[in-house]
Amino acid sequence: MKKFRHPKEKTAALVTFGLGLLASLFFVTVTFGCGLFLLGLGFAWISITMLNNPRLDQYHRINHNNLPELYEMVHQIRKQWRMADLDIYLNPTRQINASASDFGKDFLIVNQGLWMSIQNDVHRKFVIGHELGHIGLGHSWLRVLAYQADNAFQGSLLGILFQFLLLNYSRKKELSADRIGLLSCGDLTAALEVLAFLELSPHNPNMADIRQAVKQMVYGKADHDFSLGELLSTHPDMHERAKELIAFARQIKMI
Ligand SMILES: [Zn+2]
Repeated sequence: MKKFRHPKEKTAALVTFGLGLLASLFFVTVTFGCGLFLLGLGFAWISITMLNNPRLDQYHRINHNNLPELYEMVHQIRKQWRMADLDIYLNPTRQINASASDFGKDFLIVNQGLWMSIQNDVHRKFVIGHELGHIGLGHSWLRVLAYQADNAFQGSLLGILFQFLLLNYSRKKELSADRIGLLSCGDLTAALEVLAFLELSPHNPNMADIRQAVKQMVYGKADHDFSLGELLSTHPDMHERAKELIAFARQIKMI
């Protein structure tokens, strides 16, 4: 899976962690001992593990009896990527979202709202593949380092700069996960339709709206080259995600 990691994610990770490491080393050398730095890293790991491990008992654990469609699909895609076994949970909320973690035993949480509103198997495979992509590419682990670096510079100008770098890095991780989603569902149109649906979901779009949005993503230009909204969000602009997916589909000769 790792060979499909988006080059932009690699660059963002390098810049983010490179700067973090350099600055940490600088501060460690100047102000603290090395032990404190290592302690900080340990603390970050523990905090992230706790923050990242929501109380899983509030969700429904999925097995092949209570929701076979979800169970079978996740394990089919997991095996396709030769990933280790993982636990699947359904979060009984209408919110359209899903999340994944690779701390301890890998787990995936799918919100009922997302599962119910995306009914088509190919579309669902894109969503599941995207989430498994986050696990397979070790995205949670990288967050530990990010968290530590972020904590180290809190309140300083460097901290603010770091926030921007982290957000940028976070968006690039989405581009990599999208690639895994696309390879898992094998259908570019379906992948773009999911992106359009996620973008439009607050407005209850029908299939015609979604197709129209996909058309716009494929043929239309984003109406801005620079968006403050995007700069401040953890997920990239849908146009960027679509553009990157189309380029990737061409690169691997899917289209
Ligand atoms: Zn994601």
